[in-house]
Amino acid sequence: MAKKLDLQRENSFFDDVLKYFDHAAQFVKTTPGILEQIRHCNSVYRIKFPVKVKGGYEVVEAYRVEHSHHKLPTKGGIRYSEHVNQDEVMALAALMTYKCSIVDVPFGGAKGGVKINPRKYSEEELERITRRYTSELIKKNFIGPGIDVPAPDYGTGEREMSWIVDTYNTFHMNDINALACVTGKPVGQGGIRGRKEATGLGVFYGIRQYLSDAGRAKALGLTTGIKGKTVVVQGLGNVGYHAAKFFYEAGAIIVGLGEWNSAVTNTKGINPEEAFNYFKAHSTLDGLKGCKTLKNNTDVLEVECDILIPAALENQINKENASRVKTKIVGEAANGPVTPEAEQVLLKKKTVIIPDIYLNAGGVTVSYFEWLKNLSHVRLGRMEKRYQQAQNHNLLDAIESSTGKKVTTAQRKMLDHGADEIDLVYSGLEETMIDSLEQIIKTMNDNKKITDLRTAAFVTAISKIVVSYEKLGVFP
Ligand code: GLU
Repeated sequence: MAKKLDLQRENSFFDDVLKYFDHAAQFVKTTPGILEQIRHCNSVYRIKFPVKVKGGYEVVEAYRVEHSHHKLPTKGGIRYSEHVNQDEVMALAALMTYKCSIVDVPFGGAKGGVKINPRKYSEEELERITRRYTSELIKKNFIGPGIDVPAPDYGTGEREMSWIVDTYNTFHMNDINALACVTGKPVGQGGIRGRKEATGLGVFYGIRQYLSDAGRAKALGLTTGIKGKTVVVQGLGNVGYHAAKFFYEAGAIIVGLGEWNSAVTNTKGINPEEAFNYFKAHSTLDGLKGCKTLKNNTDVLEVECDILIPAALENQINKENASRVKTKIVGEAANGPVTPEAEQVLLKKKTVIIPDIYLNAGGVTVSYFEWLKNLSHVRLGRMEKRYQQAQNHNLLDAIESSTGKKVTTAQRKMLDHGADEIDLVYSGLEETMIDSLEQIIKTMNDNKKITDLRTAAFVTAISKIVVSYEKLGVFP
């Protein structure tokens, strides 16, 4: 049986984010005072509320932090974990601000946290906790379509979001935009197709884009493309599972998978779907067919590979294990998985770190699409799908009659349709991930003193926020 190791934090997570911020800030030209305003958290709401569980009452500790109000609403997930604390929620809220800025999503950053281990509660108890937490947010105006819009994060998903929207609706019966108070909802309750896999798909698009450039790939001793690359994923939650699946489908070899209590490796490759089903049935990856069980769950981070994707929690690669990490690319699917000390060790080894504030922004990007859908009260693609399809159909007919040749069935299948919601979400996400990476690379190319992608990403994000503060005129 694999042992579960909890790595101890070296520093405050929020201080780590400030470290990244301060390092990047030296490359941003602005009026004194603006950077100081950006770095802090604007509002921190700490709640303790009683819930009736297991025949008695339990006091639950929870938070919502709004990091920046330079754009509204603020946006960010809600985490259910027994490790939740104020410092963590502040750090995650700050990361959301930079993330939204990088992908041009017009929101400030926020984050919520409820300090519970969701595995210890029944569904009914979780519903009670979620609804009570939501009413606490409503009480103090920390939720609303134009105020602050939560979403899923570690330990939460569609189910929790549906409880949140239902609770909010009960208090805002006359608000026609009430559905936009939270994203990541089930499709039947105002959600959008593609949101569930969005973060994992964004991770895939981002790394694929990095490796699409021959110069960038060659510098790592790799060829372009995903096919044949060895990949390790830590975390088989919503983000890790989908990321692994997209890499697998693109021909990558998944040589290692890890969960909170177990980890396995197989040089011949693991099918993530089989691993996911196995984990669901056995609550462990130990014993997965054809795989070697690793001694500790965190050992998966040390499996040799081309691409390592930590997709669980922060602080996973730290000064204790960084020197043993054997990968060419670390793709930060989780928020804050590499500490600043570990980053120095990895950069010295010429490992490329594709930073969280860019790489996992696919989730909030599609959340933005969901929010737009809720506010416009129309499904994406509804107005133009049939028109597009007719246009494509006519064009194919015209090509056939003017050339006298028939297009193949495959070509007709590919072209003879209009864009549906899922097509638009995927293409909007793909465009966002490609464009944002190239913006970050441009920042790096424009300033030779910036030598790593995280600094370039922070500079890109901060520069855009500075502009909106200057436009707001809060510093006359
Ligand atoms: N929790 C996700 C994140 O960390 C998604 C946030 C959102 O969609 O608002 O980016």
